[in-house]
Amino acid sequence: MIGSLVVVGTGPGNPEQMTPEAAAAIAAAEDFFGYFPYLDRLSLRHDQRRHASDNREELARAREALAMAAAGGKVCVVSGGDPGVFAMAAAVCEALEAGPEEWRDIDLTIIPGVTAMLAVAARAGAPLGHDFCAISLSTNLKPWHVIEERIVAAAKAGFVMAFYNPISKARPHQLGAALKLLRHHLPPSVPVIFGRAAGRPDEMIRTVTLTDAAPEMADMATCIIVGTSETRFIERGVKEPLVYSPRSHRDGGA
Ligand code: SAH
Repeated sequence: MIGSLVVVGTGPGNPEQMTPEAAAAIAAAEDFFGYFPYLDRLSLRHDQRRHASDNREELARAREALAMAAAGGKVCVVSGGDPGVFAMAAAVCEALEAGPEEWRDIDLTIIPGVTAMLAVAARAGAPLGHDFCAISLSTNLKPWHVIEERIVAAAKAGFVMAFYNPISKARPHQLGAALKLLRHHLPPSVPVIFGRAAGRPDEMIRTVTLTDAAPEMADMATCIIVGTSETRFIERGVKEPLVYSPRSHRDGGA
């Protein structure tokens, strides 16, 4: 008998930001595949089995999960945030497309979650209030020149940008290069939000101008939101400033 595969997003880290739909899917599954810190965040029962793996083994993990579901398992693949944003849902689809025909009969469900940029944006105000895009700065799956081209295109088109995977030990220099590139295309006063570990106890949200933005302000757990020339910064005395992107475009239109 063919089984089921559910791909869930656990949200940014705060259990209250996991959707009830994701929690119910986790409670119903028996075998769990995922990067070990994500599995650690779940309170699994004794009868639920963990198959933890390293972050880089996404495709192999997806194949293993699909094979177990094809053999009749009730399988769950776990991502942080949303599973469709730089995460496991695309790896599962890719493995399924290349895999045996019978994998297409698996009862596959993808359950959305609160992605990092939404958790960070909500802490800062409403920086994603108008058109925006998300770019991963990781070169694991695409070359750096493509990332640069996309950053320049987004800056020219007036998109707010959310950067995922901004920096790692293996890639210490690229965020600095990205910020330098942005300085060529955007005014120095553009707000840049460094949102670290949003929704977790060690959360830190810091907003600076593009001039002051520095790579040292980010680590692997940071999502960076870069505003546009229209993004506003509201001082509120002792309270954290509010950052928002107005709903209407400045030179006309509703
Ligand atoms: N699927 C995840 C993203 C995985 S890529 C999601 O939807 O959020 C991993 C990157 O996500 C990290 O390098 C960081 O840029 C971002 N990220 C994940 N959790 C975060 C959090 N709680 N706060 C800020 N950024 C986070």
